[in-house]
Amino acid sequence: MVLFAVVPGKSYYAIQFRDIPPEYILGGACLACAHKGPVNRSMIERRWGPAEDLRFVDRRLRCTSCGNGDHNRFIIFGRRA
Ligand SMILES: [Zn+2]
Repeated sequence: MVLFAVVPGKSYYAIQFRDIPPEYILGGACLACAHKGPVNRSMIERRWGPAEDLRFVDRRLRCTSCGNGDHNRFIIFGRRA
């Protein structure tokens, strides 16, 4: 599942948290080691607000596998049943 399929017509750089339907589980992907993991979406939205752009927050993502903090991206990690 890619973000583009969940938020049609918007590039990554235009997507805000509120654009992503609540049934989707938000995750992060590491550029360095390709590790993917879920993130705490409700915590992120409480801190940054649902109208924040993903691209302004993804610089804060840190890989839980290798520790890389550069150029990581939000992804759709899954979907709730
Ligand atoms: Zn990594």
